[in-house]
Amino acid sequence: HGQTPAELIKHADLAMYEAKSQGRAAWRFFEPRMAAAAYAALEMESRLARAVRDGEFVLHFQPQFALAAGAEATLVGVEALIRWQDPERGLVLPDAFIPLAEERRLILPIGRWVLAEALRCAVRWRDAGFAPGPVAVNVSTQEFQSPGFVEGVAQALRDSGARGDMLELELTERMLMEDVATVRAALLRLRAAGVRIAVDDFGTGYTSLAHLKHLPVDRLKIDRSFIADVPGDAGSVAIAGAIVNLGQRLHLQVLAEGVETEAQRAWVAAQGCDAQQGFLAGAPLPAAAFEAWLRARRG
Ligand code: C2E
Ligand code: MG
Ligand code: MG
Repeated sequence: HGQTPAELIKHADLAMYEAKSQGRAAWRFFEPRMAAAAYAALEMESRLARAVRDGEFVLHFQPQFALAAGAEATLVGVEALIRWQDPERGLVLPDAFIPLAEERRLILPIGRWVLAEALRCAVRWRDAGFAPGPVAVNVSTQEFQSPGFVEGVAQALRDSGARGDMLELELTERMLMEDVATVRAALLRLRAAGVRIAVDDFGTGYTSLAHLKHLPVDRLKIDRSFIADVPGDAGSVAIAGAIVNLGQRLHLQVLAEGVETEAQRAWVAAQGCDAQQGFLAGAPLPAAAFEAWLRARRG
């Protein structure tokens, strides 16, 4: 499996890596496809590093609407979603590059850019007289756990001239449940700056309800995998309904993610969900198109 000692060791290492990634306590022979996969990841990493350096990212924006009867047209917020404008491959969605960015720690500069850019847009919209509600920014575990994260957010707010309440941070359950005392302290400082905290993809992680009760969180976002199967699937109906109930009793806002059909919208509204986001009400749009849409709405 190698023509030189160095190559042999490198290939043995790839086989070991594969054995470890498949649950350890296992063995694997080297296969050429392992080298191909490792090479592809390496190439992707260098392209991603170039993307960071050359600023190849863009944000798309997806509106969030109220659900209460009579208030369905009220915009309650907007989520910023990153895309990579790769010169060779075109627009790349985050699921195709965020995991690698996390693995190679490129997520830190990417996250800083997302936050700054989202706030720049929010300030521009405010100054233009639109009131789209807070802009929601997705935060990855590594960013949240990096030293100085809270200070970085405060600095980004100052640099942009945005008020804290123009920003919502979307965290995941897993992030919130690690080292709860430290997390709670960080959330309290963000909250003191006016920043809102949402739990993204709620229902798919590992929330300890005992911990959730103590965390200063503003909003639960019901994961779209549950919304996809309501109102037809009894399991999803039970889970999504229970999340709405839990949120209401803990005095949290509840937003349904991924609402695609009128039947789903009617069902989440009937449950008493506060807000919805999804293709039915509006798909994510590039900044310019989103702004044009805001202008048209006002007019
Ligand atoms: P998410 O935060 O849960 O974002 C919602 C995803 O659902 C977005 O996918 C959005 O386009 C998609 N979506 C919205 N409405 C619907 C719908 O009605 N039906 C369906 N099937 N999908 C819908 P997207 O933009 O591909 O983002 C995927 C994930 O990538 C996000 O999930 C988020 O976890 C992550 N992500 C996006 N932007 C960032 C970022 O700036 N930083 C970090 N760290 N992660 C990000
Ligand atoms: Mg999100
Ligand atoms: Mg989500």
